[in-house]
Amino acid sequence: MPDSKALSDFLDRLRPAPASVLLLDYDGTLAPFRVERDRAYPYPEVVPIIEQLVDLGKTRVVIISGRPVAEVKDLLHPLSGIEMWGAHGLERVMPDGSYHRSSIPRDAADLLAQAHKWVMNAKLTPLAEIKPGGIAIHWRGMSKAEAESIEARVTEGWMAIARSPELKLLKFESGVELRVSRPDKGDAVAAVLSESDPAAPIAYLGDDLTDEDSFHALNGRGLTILVRPEYRSTAAQVWLRPPRELIEFLQQWLRRMG
Ligand SMILES: [Mg+2]
Repeated sequence: MPDSKALSDFLDRLRPAPASVLLLDYDGTLAPFRVERDRAYPYPEVVPIIEQLVDLGKTRVVIISGRPVAEVKDLLHPLSGIEMWGAHGLERVMPDGSYHRSSIPRDAADLLAQAHKWVMNAKLTPLAEIKPGGIAIHWRGMSKAEAESIEARVTEGWMAIARSPELKLLKFESGVELRVSRPDKGDAVAAVLSESDPAAPIAYLGDDLTDEDSFHALNGRGLTILVRPEYRSTAAQVWLRPPRELIEFLQQWLRRMG
């Protein structure tokens, strides 16, 4: 269950810390969901706070998203010069703009091509998002009955392909994604941790089932925060309701760094 002492203890550690690390999911965490996914802009208070945090130079801010990194960059415009991981950790852009993308095993790429073909034959292309290392089917905005019917079709259609150990079928809040088994968001968190001073306070904020890998990777070493209007069972230590409690948390972080 949520632990408010964990939150206040963490904030107490921030003020004297010479360095800190703020890890952020994007959709549902910094930005409200929208049926038009290309218009899911952040809450208006978010970008100025992150800009100030980056300017103060004591917080390494890192976005870790399931989206391709180019989309997150566009949605966070004019914010620039921060580290971003996209496609669940498959892509990485550094603050100086340099880009790295992990390669996908050949077998996994062939299976994803088969899954894409199935989507086209099933005439589900309008719901599909093809991204590095995965294919997502989105049903946000549909009725419960429609969503359930699509989920059943996709799960059935991809069943044989998804059995491969190279791939996994991820359920998220309003869709499913077939993608490479690794990396996941927890791998991105582990990579950032390996590069960070063990004494630096570090927190991760996320909303979705895919953020549970991050919570597990960080628990015991940093603060994990579920950002969500309603509570659900989670490995995160703390629960914040967006946008008000999220903005307050970011403002408190900024105040302690200033
Ligand atoms: Mg999210």
